[in-house]
Order: sequence, then structure tokens, then C-alpha cells
Amino acid sequence: MDYLLALDQGTTSSRAILFDHSGSVVALAQKEFRQIFPKPGQVEHDGLEIWSSQLFVARECLQQLPAGGKVAAIGITNQRETTLLWDRKTGQPVANAIVWQDRRTAGRCDELRQAGHAARIQKKTGLVLDAYFSGTKIEWLLDHVPGIRARAEKGEIAFGTMDSWLVWNLTGGKVHVTDVSNASRTLLFNLHTLAWDDELLGLFNIPRSVLPEVVPSSGIMAETDADVLGTTIKIAGMAGDQQAATFGQVCFAPGMAKNTYGTGCFLLMNTGARPVISKNRLLTTVGWSSEAATGAAYCLEGSVFMAGATIQWLRDGLQIIKSADEVQALAESVPDTGDVYLVPAFAGLGAPHWDPYARGALLGMTRGTTRAHIARAALEAIALQSADVFAAMSRDAGLALKELRVDGGASRNDLLMQMQADFSGVPVVRPRVTETTALGAAYLAGLAVGFWSGSDEIMAQWQVDRRFEPVMGAAERSAKRARWHKAVERSKLWVESQG
Ligand code: ADP
Repeated sequence: MDYLLALDQGTTSSRAILFDHSGSVVALAQKEFRQIFPKPGQVEHDGLEIWSSQLFVARECLQQLPAGGKVAAIGITNQRETTLLWDRKTGQPVANAIVWQDRRTAGRCDELRQAGHAARIQKKTGLVLDAYFSGTKIEWLLDHVPGIRARAEKGEIAFGTMDSWLVWNLTGGKVHVTDVSNASRTLLFNLHTLAWDDELLGLFNIPRSVLPEVVPSSGIMAETDADVLGTTIKIAGMAGDQQAATFGQVCFAPGMAKNTYGTGCFLLMNTGARPVISKNRLLTTVGWSSEAATGAAYCLEGSVFMAGATIQWLRDGLQIIKSADEVQALAESVPDTGDVYLVPAFAGLGAPHWDPYARGALLGMTRGTTRAHIARAALEAIALQSADVFAAMSRDAGLALKELRVDGGASRNDLLMQMQADFSGVPVVRPRVTETTALGAAYLAGLAVGFWSGSDEIMAQWQVDRRFEPVMGAAERSAKRARWHKAVERSKLWVESQG
């Protein structure tokens, strides 16, 4: 029997999952690593710790390989944008990795925006000019780690996001690659040509010599060094975590979309073979590509900052529930929110409102308001925020969405899923396997090595756990969303500065 090994290098932990031919989880190992906060607004990871945690869980999974089994290929998925530079000769990082959440280059982004570069950057990369992406993080490292810029100019330094870093180490420093989906999060990659862009490299002062070679997301890109995992295994799939989850949800056709309900929400919609540049401040990103086909699948992406985190706040901040699982029963103890709205703009508002100065607001309370109404309003807020992103996507893509596929920790809340179906006006579908990120990486790799015969076989594997049909009528839906938007307006521009 053959198996697929997925390596899921996340923001707080490294995981390894072994999948069998039916796409079921056979073994799973997970290891957390340190979050380093040097200053307010700065977040770093130790590159060596990331590698050792990933290696540890990969080995642990391989030890659980059923007798006589072997690994047909490895697929990699990873936290996106997190930026590392290392010495090509020694393989040692030159500094800690700058994590996607890190805000240290926000000022540099403002400067580039004031100089009028944002529109051109969006056109080429599909991204909003923001500190979130790798471009200004690489520039920062080149300018702040002593002597590194000169060494980079001489070709001695390599840049990589975590996908590249893992492949480098898995191959004993022989292969330096990234896939199109990860490349599309750097601000240096041209979405239309699917290649690094010299104009953008010039703008961010980044020498081409540091960049990895860009490879398709599905295709044999390397082989592990025998010393690392005890045997050589083909590395055949690679994609950023949200793109991998979209692939794992088998959103293969234009108009198919998935929403992941974790701390925040990440909604991605497949828009087909051509990038759609957003008019509603969503991101355009490469979904994935395959060695077997030209071009790539593109996605629109929108994120909500506070989703499951709103439930954490009910638990830890308000202390009206003891665990996240209690929220559904509490919310169901009342028939509606009593016209109460919670706008969880605790960290400003993301897509499509984008207001860093917005703050949380609880509106419409009366003497009759109870914690149950607030709990219900919190769940509604998660669904209403996602409904706003979903609507913006449909407008941008000019596609009528047929359904929304869901995953992530909060997707097991049935009431929340029903609210989502009602507020978005489309069926919400929860699959049986919710390990969609790792599964997506496994699918990408498995397709490249013939482990699965093709997308039809994978589509047949994807199974519904539960489907939530909208029951709310159109008039009620639009009244509800209009009331929500009134509440959102009240939360906007609340603080005077972002500090
Ligand atoms: P992440 O990967 O971002 O850490 P997970 O996918 O593990 O997130 O989901 C955890 C989040 O889901 C937490 O924010 C938690 O509050 C929320 N959550 C967990 N169970 C429920 C539930 N039954 N109802 C609503 N939210 C939940």
C-alpha cells in the first residue's frame, strides 16, 4: 500500500499527516514552536526551529507507516508570506523569519503608496500594498542585517517562504524552489506572466539572485535526501495554506468557493484561468498550477480578522461561556438577537470594509438584552462578515456562486452554518474530511505522481457531512444585511490613530 505524506507548516505549529488512497487520515503528528515578539507589532520565527519541528513530525508520521507501506510522494503546504533569508553555503538563516503578521514595514508601504505605486502593484501582483506580504520584509532584512545586502548581490544569500525553506532542507540544500501560489504572495511576482518581475524587484530593491525558481504547485519538483528521512521520496506538491485548502475542498471549477472558519475567516473563490483584479478591495492570487497544463487557476481572496476569535472573546473577555462549544446552545436559547448587533472590529475591519480605525461595537441593546442575545449576535457577526466578503467576490467575479464549502474549527457549529446559508443565500456544505489544507497538499502531490488518476477521482472522494440550505427569504435577508451595515457604519473610524 502507498500513502501520501502532507507537511503542513503552520503559523503556530508544524504538522505531518499521512493519507491513504481514499483521502483518509492514517497518521498525524503535530509540534508547536516558539512565537517571538521582539517589539510591539513584530512577530518572528526561528527558521531552524521550524525545520526541526517539521522534521520531527515527518519522522513521527513515517514511523506510523503501516507495515509494508511506502510513501508515494510528499506534498507541502505552509503559512504564507513569512520571510526567511539564509546563507546558501552553510544553510544557516541570517536572521529570524519575519512572520506574515509582522507590521514593521507598514511605514515603508505608506511611503510607496504616497509615491503613487499602489495601483501599478495591484495590477501586476493582484495584491494590496501591505506589510503582510513578503516584498518589504525581504527588503527590510537586506537593509538591517549587517553585510547581507552585499552578500546577496554576490549570490550568497537565498530567500524563501516556508515552502522553499522546507524543500531546501529536505533536499540537503540542493533545491531552491517555490510554487506559483506562494510566489504570488511576495509582491514580486507578476500574476499575468507567472514570473518574477524586474520592475517590482527594482521597486523593492531586491536582487534577483536571492529568489527561488518558481515551479508548478503540482509536479515533481525535488527528491528528499536519503539522510534526511531515511529514504528518498519525491516532493511533488506545494501550495500556500489557503490555496491548498481550496484545492482540498476540490473547488476546481470557476465560481466554486470555500470559507475557512478559524481565528479569522479566509474565503477563496476559484475565478478560472484568468486573474480578476478586484474592484472591492479583495486580493487576487494564484490558486495553483500543474506541470501537466499551461497557465494557472486564479482565486479571489478576502479575509475577516475576527471570526472564531469573537467566540474566544465571549469566553475569555466577557466570560459568558466556558468553552467555544457552549456558544451554540446559549445562542439557541433565544429565537433571535432581539435586534442586537455585535461588530467585532476589535482589530479594525478587513475585506471588504478595510478600516483600521474601526473598533468593536455592540448596538441595539435594551433592558431585555441577555448574554444569550450577545452570543447569538456574535455568531451572526461571523456569518454577516463572511456574507459581505462573499457578496463582494460575486460582484468582482461576475459569477453567481452555487454553494459555499466550509472548514475550520468553527465550521462544526451548525447554527453558524445555517446563519451563513441564510445570510449568503446559497447552500453551505461541510465535508466529512475537514483537514482540507493538508489534504489539498496531498492531492497536488498525488496527482503529479499518478497516485490518483485525475481530478475526477478526487472529486468523487470528496464527501458531504452536512448541507445547510438557506431558509430565510430574500426580503428578510436584505433587511438583515442592511441593518448589519448600519451597525458596521457606526463602528468605523472610531479611533484617531492605529496605535
Ligand atoms: P486556527 O487554525 O485559526 O487556530 P481552528 O480552525 O483550530 O483555528 O478553529 C478554532 C477557532 O474556532 C477558535 O477561535 C474557536 O473560538 C472557534 N470555535 C471552536 N469551536 C467552536 C464552536 N463550536 N462554535 C463557534 N466557534 C468555535
